[in-house]
Amino acid sequence: MTDDLPLDPDATPSDDTPSDDATGFADLGLRVELLDALNTLGYEEPTPIQRETIPTIVSGKDLLGQAATGTGKTAAFALPILERLVPEAEVEPLALVLVPTRELAVQVSEAVYRYGRELDAQVLPIYGGQPIVHQLKVIKRGVHVVVATPGRAVDHINRGTLPLDAVELVVLDEADEMLDMGFAEDIDAILDACPPDRQTVLFSATMPPRIAALAKRHLKDPVRIQVDREAVAAGESPRVRQSAYLVARNHKAAALGRILDVESPGSAIVFCKTRGEVDELTETLNGRGYRAEALHGGMNQEQRDRVMGRLRSQTADLLVATDVAARGLDVDHLTHVVNYDVPSAPESYVHRIGRVGRAGREGVAITLAEPRQRRLLGNIERLTGQTIGIEKIPTVADLRARQMELTLDQVREALEGDDQLDRFRAVVDALADEFELVDVALAAVKLVHEASGATEDVEEIPDIATREKPSRDKHKGDKWDKGPKGGKGKHQDKPWDKKGKGQRGPQGPTSRLYVGAGRGDGVRPQDLVGAIAGETHLRGNDIGAIRIFDRFALVEVPTDSVDRVIDAMAATTIRGKKAAVRRDRGDHD
Ligand code: AMP
Repeated sequence: MTDDLPLDPDATPSDDTPSDDATGFADLGLRVELLDALNTLGYEEPTPIQRETIPTIVSGKDLLGQAATGTGKTAAFALPILERLVPEAEVEPLALVLVPTRELAVQVSEAVYRYGRELDAQVLPIYGGQPIVHQLKVIKRGVHVVVATPGRAVDHINRGTLPLDAVELVVLDEADEMLDMGFAEDIDAILDACPPDRQTVLFSATMPPRIAALAKRHLKDPVRIQVDREAVAAGESPRVRQSAYLVARNHKAAALGRILDVESPGSAIVFCKTRGEVDELTETLNGRGYRAEALHGGMNQEQRDRVMGRLRSQTADLLVATDVAARGLDVDHLTHVVNYDVPSAPESYVHRIGRVGRAGREGVAITLAEPRQRRLLGNIERLTGQTIGIEKIPTVADLRARQMELTLDQVREALEGDDQLDRFRAVVDALADEFELVDVALAAVKLVHEASGATEDVEEIPDIATREKPSRDKHKGDKWDKGPKGGKGKHQDKPWDKKGKGQRGPQGPTSRLYVGAGRGDGVRPQDLVGAIAGETHLRGNDIGAIRIFDRFALVEVPTDSVDRVIDAMAATTIRGKKAAVRRDRGDHD
């Protein structure tokens, strides 16, 4: 056994875990059919909101919960609903869930159906725009759970087509959204039409006075639960370059592949929510040329040991894992932590990225968020007091330019470091008789490029971040796509690299800093961003264009921060080396 273990999901969690409470689903009082369903879905442990709310709702108490989408809130109420279900009973709805939108109605219905599959749960989403005749037919046939938007629910109540007499539990999901959409009166009418002794559960991402008033009108002595505000002690927050990408679910795997291609992490851990997601993503990443290994609670000790061995010996460069499986795992050479999903609790984000934060400023944390999870990013930012920059997904052009740059680095390395080049002179001489030398070089570079396994992505991934907020990247078009040219000209003639993937630069005036370490020292744009962002109050997005030369680099930073950056950098190293940092006087080359 090594000190990386235990990895056993049943083992006592280490201090590194988001919670010392190792409650599993089985401890929450759920029936075996639900435990089986959760196991099949690959859920390894309850999220904090589930841990806190399920026993309360199962016990029959009213509940007022503050939780955002993406925290696992749907299962938090869906499982207790299903706990009450009597499969063979004559079916009139026993639970009514009110949600603000038709999308959410469908989504929640699907979740209830998935969790309740073994119980043969009958679920019906009811929303406007769908033929009412179909809804009537299904209601007649019998349903256990109705998930409705308030407007359409009121239509049915007025027509007398939605039997509510058997309703034992009403859930108001995303109540603040429903009030914002003007559903207050409809909600009152619906709740008044339900049996007075029913149980009521209200979830809302925010708790303005209007929600308190709604709760006061309809909830009886509710248990209050808020999951996202656990304070993290000052200094515990990680010092890591943190960025997020907004991407639709169906583009996530492709987006991650591309982000990793551009970031080229030394060694990364990618966190997923479920075992299924771990397996699927591992396969996708392997297909893209990464050496990725899966680690989840469904694997036995021997399999896990093997994976850990490969990671430690760096035979694998990516570990794709669930939180539970990664518990107690301590790999010192990690450069990147990737959240394939926004973690359901902000605290678990902090714990995850602490795995690179400890290593100091070179750590990078990348989070993929679906647009609806944006609010969760806000929760995390409030908890850590640090900003997570929303980045643009690298375009096909970004990727190609980056791959060209890697090829250039490879060839440069061979030119500078390989004393056996002469072995190939006969080949070059033979070709030189027939072709121009530059054409020979082009062909050779092409072969290097292809051999390095550059991914041939051709389709752009829709970028939600740019669609929502047009980029004001003033350096657009002058970053990787031109590629560094080398040569000896004045630096003003050369293209300016950016830090990476089209990040938004600083908005105000900037000044140029000279950093006395360059390509020859292995310095990459991300090292400079990491060093500056790690040592100062600046964020990745505050740092402007970066150019890396052989022996030095030039970095644009906000003018009003120049002195602080110089002071902070004096005390630090870049890729293990002390480097002079001063205002650029333009006197180098
Ligand atoms: P929700 O906040 O209900 O929209 O859930 C967000 C996502 O988390 C959904 O994709 C769920 O399938 C997933 N999820 C919910 N609970 C768990 C859990 N305990 N373990 C893993 N995934 C979960």
